[in-house]
Amino acid sequence: MLDEFDTIVHFDLFEAPKARLLIIYTGGTLGMDYDAGGTLVPCGFDSVLRRAPVIKELQINLSVLSFKVPIDSSSVEIKHWQQMAEIIYNNYSDYDGFLILHGTDTMAYSASALSFMLQGLDKPVVFTGAQLPIASPRSDAKENLVTSLEIASDKKEGKPIITEVCIFFNNRLIRGNRAKKVESQQFDAFESENYPILAQAGITIDYQWSYLMPSANKDLVLTTKMNPSVIVLKLFPGLQPATVDHIIKAPNIKGVILESYGAGNVPHQKWFLNLLEEGVKSDKIILNISQCNGGKVMHGKYETSSKLDEIGVISGEDLTTEAATTKMMYALGRYSNIKDIQNCLTTPIRGEMN
Ligand code: ASP
Repeated sequence: MLDEFDTIVHFDLFEAPKARLLIIYTGGTLGMDYDAGGTLVPCGFDSVLRRAPVIKELQINLSVLSFKVPIDSSSVEIKHWQQMAEIIYNNYSDYDGFLILHGTDTMAYSASALSFMLQGLDKPVVFTGAQLPIASPRSDAKENLVTSLEIASDKKEGKPIITEVCIFFNNRLIRGNRAKKVESQQFDAFESENYPILAQAGITIDYQWSYLMPSANKDLVLTTKMNPSVIVLKLFPGLQPATVDHIIKAPNIKGVILESYGAGNVPHQKWFLNLLEEGVKSDKIILNISQCNGGKVMHGKYETSSKLDEIGVISGEDLTTEAATTKMMYALGRYSNIKDIQNCLTTPIRGEMN
């Protein structure tokens, strides 16, 4: 599984470091450089280190594990989540925290997936990346990288402050399974949906103590089985019965994330509700989330969603699409009984829903 990784490189620079961190370098814009034709292509971690030597001065002993071939995060697959989670699990007792350098495009999916795979996590797993490559003079990479390292090494009374999977970007620390990429042009690429940010980095790192995940006080449990038989069906006016029929009845689809309107509203036409019902009756799991970034699904608030509970469509409450998709894969991978899958989807397991 791990032959896609280079051998681990240790920078044990300090006799009494304030922390030992493992960096998993997957690629993304942060470490990219321009090729001869001016196109951004992924580069190795050595180029990151060359551009940000300051990370060797932070009183942190670092180890680095890189993808042999760094990737643009648009190419991330389930196997990459499994590899990252396994690395963290296998090295858990040797490090105080973990930093994952990752492209921004799918970072919220990867952070959500890892939050479900690593149950009982009691140490920081911080994802970061950049909008501009570290090679660029105006890059946000160095700032994101250095502060992420600080956060992943921060302790209170000898214990890590952060005990969950999160994303640090543009001075804000966000719970991973609440994050959404909302911007591709400006530096503030991520938003936290329906949950306050966990910390703001200014002159000091200002933690929002009451919103941090409390210490799990449990052993770390790794569950990497994910079932990819999932689809996101985004509603739009004009969606045709034949299309919905095709998706709901596709034999390789087990879970449908229904991205509905507003507070969870769906077309009130009979054909649509009948197809949803047929899906549920044939053991498809249909999870209703909203296309809105803020607010939540409330079955029955409007007439247009009042039938959904009756039919057996599950309310995804305030889940993001990223969290809903990865949680569905996790639930389908972990459980085979429909009731257990439904229970998993309706119960908050890592702060992903209220
Ligand atoms: N396409 C890049 C990626 O996700 C964008 C980025 O890193 O910001 O890998």
